[in-house]
Amino acid sequence: MRLVLLGPPGAGKGTQAQVLSKDLNIPHISTGDMLREALRAASPLGLKAKGYMDQGALVPDDLVIELVRERLSKPDAAKGFILDGFPRTAEQGESLGKMLAGLSMPLDVTLYFKTSMLVIIRRLGGRRICSKCGKTYHMTNFRPKVDGVCDVCQGSLMQRPDDREEAIENRLVVYEKQTAPLIDYYKKKNLLEEISGDLEVDDLNIALEIIFKKRNLVGNRIQNAG
Ligand code: ADP
Ligand code: ZN
Repeated sequence: MRLVLLGPPGAGKGTQAQVLSKDLNIPHISTGDMLREALRAASPLGLKAKGYMDQGALVPDDLVIELVRERLSKPDAAKGFILDGFPRTAEQGESLGKMLAGLSMPLDVTLYFKTSMLVIIRRLGGRRICSKCGKTYHMTNFRPKVDGVCDVCQGSLMQRPDDREEAIENRLVVYEKQTAPLIDYYKKKNLLEEISGDLEVDDLNIALEIIFKKRNLVGNRIQNAG
């Protein structure tokens, strides 16, 4: 299955993508995660991206598009993928369309996580990530076993610089201006399915099952999982 997850920061795309990636046995491709990894590794891309990311601004299209192009050309993407955080601008959407057409791998569906402002602000404010491996936690919804310490690698947890209040506001403005137009773009292509990002993980899963069935994507799912 080839999926795009669309929605505001804090919609829970990343969490849901992790679940789906396991269920469907297809890679979770998050440009945010890839960029943060580049940052931790202090690679040339990471150094270029840092200033934009810390302020909650978008990294320039050409950098991100190249990153995704490389990732989608890896063999594991041939069995399907979940794109999380990409595309985020009209230009990225157009580029993705061309890339996938060239690979004869059209999208199956775009899941739009419609999310209320209250939920967004609660989720982002409580989010913590591991400074070593990047795993995400939440101070009320998903606590680590030991306060401030990553369950997986024992790295220390920190708040993402762009989860501070000023940066959150900026990200939401950027989202409305640059990313929200993609909702109509995919609607016109008859690829859009809307679900509520306000739902808890288990309920969201049920909602997704229904959408996959409706779109006849269930066979894909069983095939991949088996
Ligand atoms: P969010 O919680 O806002 O969905 P992400 O982890 O997806 O966060 O992205 C974090 C930051 O990484 C963004 O604010 C942006 O600076 C950069 N970024 C991620 N994906 C893209 C993209 N497709 N285009 C431009 N910048 C991106
Ligand atoms: Zn860790």
